[in-house]
Parts: sequence; C-alpha cells; structure tokens
Amino acid sequence: MPTPDSPTNFDVLVVGSGASGGWAAKRLSEAGLNVAIVEAGRPQSDENFTEHKPSFELKYRNMAESIVAKNHPIQGKFDVCNEYTQDWFVNDHDEPYTTPADKPFNWMGRLRITGGRTNVWGRVSLRFSDQDFKSASLDGYGENWPISYSDIAPYYDIVEKYVGITGMAEGLEHLPDGQFQPPMPLTCQEQVFRDKVKAKFGRTVTLARSANLTRPINGRGPCHFCGPCERGCITHSYFNSAFTTVPDALKTGKCKLISNAMVHKILMDPATNRARGILYVDRITKQSHELTARAVILCAQSQESTRILLNSGTREHPNGLGNSSGALGHYLTAHVRSGGGRGEFPELSHKKTLAGPNKPVGIYIARFRNLKNDPPYKKFLRGYGYEGESSSSFNFNAPGFGTAFKQSVLQSRESFEITGFGEVLPRFDNFVEIDPEKKDIFGIPVLKIHMSDGENERAMIKDMGDSAGEMLEAAGAKNIRTYANPSAPRWALHEAGIARMGADPKKSVLNQFQQTHDVKNVFVMDASGFTTNPCQNPTLTIMALAVRSCDHLMDEMKHQNL
Ligand SMILES: Cc1cc2nc3c(=O)[nH]c(=O)nc-3n(C[C@H](O)[C@H](O)[C@H](O)COP(=O)(O)OP(=O)(O)OC[C@H]3O[C@@H](n4cnc5c(N)ncnc54)[C@H](O)[C@@H]3O)c2cc1C
Ligand code: SF4
Repeated sequence: MPTPDSPTNFDVLVVGSGASGGWAAKRLSEAGLNVAIVEAGRPQSDENFTEHKPSFELKYRNMAESIVAKNHPIQGKFDVCNEYTQDWFVNDHDEPYTTPADKPFNWMGRLRITGGRTNVWGRVSLRFSDQDFKSASLDGYGENWPISYSDIAPYYDIVEKYVGITGMAEGLEHLPDGQFQPPMPLTCQEQVFRDKVKAKFGRTVTLARSANLTRPINGRGPCHFCGPCERGCITHSYFNSAFTTVPDALKTGKCKLISNAMVHKILMDPATNRARGILYVDRITKQSHELTARAVILCAQSQESTRILLNSGTREHPNGLGNSSGALGHYLTAHVRSGGGRGEFPELSHKKTLAGPNKPVGIYIARFRNLKNDPPYKKFLRGYGYEGESSSSFNFNAPGFGTAFKQSVLQSRESFEITGFGEVLPRFDNFVEIDPEKKDIFGIPVLKIHMSDGENERAMIKDMGDSAGEMLEAAGAKNIRTYANPSAPRWALHEAGIARMGADPKKSVLNQFQQTHDVKNVFVMDASGFTTNPCQNPTLTIMALAVRSCDHLMDEMKHQNL
C-alpha cells in the first residue's frame, strides 16, 4: 500500500473527496488505477451523525448562534453550519479570503471533512439540457459549452442510478427526465400549487428531484423522513460521498485516503511540461509533503481548485498553471436567489401532532422564461427556477387563553414558500485572484474575490418576486408576502466557471474533458470548468462530467498520451 513517504506508486492524485473527487476516485480505482485522495479535511464517520439527536441534548440547545459565529463568522450565516455541524466547516479565521471593501462576498459551505459539501447539501439534482449547453447560440451572449446534451446523457444515467434520485418524469425538453426512483408524495399545499399553476400559467411544478432514496440501493436504506439530512444520516439514505463513492473507492484496495492534507500547489517538471505531483501541508503537524503521480485531478470545489492553479505558477507558467488564455479566475458565477414569496393555505389546516413525518424534499418550479421556442423575454437574458417547501406548524400565535387557546394552538398553520435560483451571466469582471498580502495558517496565499450583480441579475431578481406573487395568488394562498432584494453582500453555494471549458485554448482553460489546454496531465473536475452556470443546481452535472472526464483520462493513459 503506498504511503505519503513512498509516493511514486500512484497513478492519479485526486484533490478533494466531495461530489467530484469521490466519483473520480471511484471510477479510476474500480478500473484498477492506483489512486490517492488528498483531502484537506478530517475523516467522516457515522458516529458524527446527529439527525436523531434532539437539541435539548446539546450544550447550547442549538440556540447560541453567537457561539457558532465565534470561529465561523461566515459559515455560520447559513443555518446548515450550527451547533451540531460546526466542526465540519472551515474555521474562517484560520482559512480566510478577502474581498474589495465595496464587494462583500459570503463564501459559504466551506467544508473540511471527507465528503465536502455533500455532507450538508440540499440534494436537488437536475439535468442541464441543450438550452443550457448552447445558450450563446440562442441569445448571442458569451460562449457555448464544448459539449452537447447527447455527450453527457449516458453519464447522467450512470450517476443517477448509483446516487438514487427521487423524482417525477415531466417530459420537458429543457429539464430532461432522468433515471428516477419512485417519487416521494407531495404535501397538500404542494399538490394544490402544482395543479393551479399548471392550469393558470402552463408552468411545471414538480417534486424537487432529489438525492434521497425511496428504494434501497447498495446497502443504503430508503429515507424514513426524519428531516435534518444536513446533520448526516445513519441509514445513508441521502447521497454523501463520505458514505458512497469514497468507501467504494477504498474497498478496491487501489485507493488511499490521505486526510488533513491541505494542497498548496501542483509541482511541475519544466523539462516535459508535465505535472509531477503536488505539495501539501499536513493540517495537524503543519509539515509539507510531496506526492507524485502520472496525473493530477483537482476536485477541491471551484474557488479552491482555482486557488491551487493560481498558486502553482512557474517561470514557464507565470500567471498560474493553465492560464495561457488569461481566463483562469475569471467569469465567476453563482446563482442569485434573493427573490421569491410565501403564503398560507388556511383551508388545509388540520389538528396537528408532534409525530408527523418530516419530508426532506420540497418542490421545484421549472424555468419558464426565455425558452427555446418562445419569443425572448424582454427584461433579461436566460432564466430561473424556484425551489419551494411547505411547512405545517402549531398555531403558537393564536390569540386568547385557557381551553380555547389550547384548542387553537393545535390547529396547524399551513404555509408555503418559493425561492428563485437564477442564472448569472459569466462576466470577465467577476473574478478571483491571489491576494499578495494574505496567507492562511498553513502559509498558503489566499484568494481575493471580486463579485457583484449586473443589470441582468437585478432584473431577474425583481421578476422572481413578481412571478412568485402571481403564482401564489393563482394557487389561492392567503397573506402573501413577496420579496426581491439586491443580493449584496453576494453569497453563494453554487459557484462555477473560473477555469472554464472551451474548444478555443485562447479563450478557455480546459478542454471538453476538463483537461487543461496547457498541461496535459492536469485536470479540474469540479464546477470551475462550467462554461455557463444554468439555473438548475450544479452537482448532478459536476458528477456526470467527472465520470466522463475520468473515462477520457483512462483512454489517454491506455494510449500512452499521459
Ligand atoms: C448548504 C448547501 C446546499 C447545497 N444544495 C445543493 C443542491 O440542492 N443541489 C446541488 O446541486 N448542489 C447543492 N449544493 C452545492 C454542492 O454541495 C456542490 O456543488 C458540490 O458538493 C461541489 O462538489 P465539489 O466536488 O466541487 O466540492 P465539495 O463537495 O465541496 O468537495 C471539495 C473537497 O475538497 C477539499 N479541499 C478544499 N481545498 C482543498 C485543498 N487545498 N487541498 C485538499 N483538499 C481540499 C474540501 O475539504 C472538500 O472536502 C449545496 C451546497 C451547500 C453548502
Ligand atoms: S430525512 Fe431521510 S435522508 Fe434525511 S437524514 Fe432522515 S432518513 Fe436520512
């Protein structure tokens, strides 16, 4: 078994063990290659999962946000980083980043544990279509992807069958159906909303296609509707690479997981213009180590992978590795999601109990603006979808006292909320660079992130609020409140695009197999390769592309090109 001290045994180094890294390690090691997963975080284990632990068993009852914020002032702004899970996240003081004073950016979801973001993700899993891959041909903005839907469709099939996606087939060309497990049922509010919105607007409201099992696969049990997936799952009923792809890779005996290993840079051999390995810092000892291999795959999440490339500059690659085009670090995109609305459905009120199921999956409203065969929508380019969920709570605000009050409290409050997720246009002036003034506790230079919304995003956010209101009204909701806020400070969980793929090496960093144009044995298989960032959630596409690119890498190795 190779160790960090006997490094030359590796065929491939995979940096990161999240959605992309888990798949890369699984695909390559199951094909017989010697793989090391080099992961900045510590190992994950079922013992850390607390989805069934009531908050009264916690020291601060999960109510002391200021305690979480002490080491996680950024991560703690999103509720998945809480008293249960805070240790899975980066310490924001130890591993900072910077922004210009007038462009604050909340870079959240920075995990430091096996599985990365898939520990806490929302699991919504949607395919892209040719409406997305060829959007530049449709509206003239930006670049097309160097692939079509038919190139990736077989890989979506592979990933969906393994991950397990609950979903409903709808037959939409712009939101292709996949290999679904049986759908979880809709709640009453969701069903009413689906029917009325279809009848009035012809828009599709469907179950949010989601990586939660309704049938067992590979020893993983179906979901039992306990609710808080972001705290782990002892029955492994949602997809988290920590208990799926990574253990599968380790089971082959061909893959080694090197934890607590913060990768600083890729090491180059100038004589051959090939990467010879990586340099990492051990998180615990702070010692540096080298690993060598025939190929390096970055899967550290888009900004982290781009940071590694920017920190790997040499005399031959002075502006960072893979950056002969000048595109590296540019065209940062991340969904806008600050428009939406909520309402109530009092006619669905019922006598509530504490023992009800907690369905972990809500609804998704498919994009309805600027579709291929419709006239262009005048207010903005591209489009957005909505995620939505219903909730049913006791009526704690009931007026009165005594017996009448007790009876009123038991009547449930049925509410329903939808939030838009909108495509952001890739713009050169949304970018990341290395901040020459600042390093993290490992001595690694950090990123400076420059990101703000443009006119297109502002118009889209307003439309999200307006359309949410009209749909809630059509569904018969009461007490409707809509919102459309500027997304500043900008915050993000779905970042993409800063090492983009393209057919032209003068305009892009990666080819269609996520291989850098400049250095043949360096690949980047997370969302940094996305040429655009369509409104559908990115992770299913990240995983499908990683599998496709790994197959290409193995092909290149077979033909001695790597
Ligand atoms: C709260 C939340 C909700 C989300 N909901 C959804 C959703 O509903 N649907 C969807 O499609 N997506 C969702 N996402 C996004 C999704 O989680 C990511 O798109 C996906 O996990 C990205 O995969 P990745 O492999 O690029 O990175 P990750 O899964 O984050 O894995 C990256 C790994 O790399 C490691 N790493 C980082 N830097 C280094 C380094 N220098 N050296 C070594 N290792 C390093 C990290 O520790 C981490 O383990 C959500 C994310 C969050 C945080
Ligand atoms: S709701 Fe389902 S998937 Fe989520 S933690 Fe509970 S059993 Fe697991």
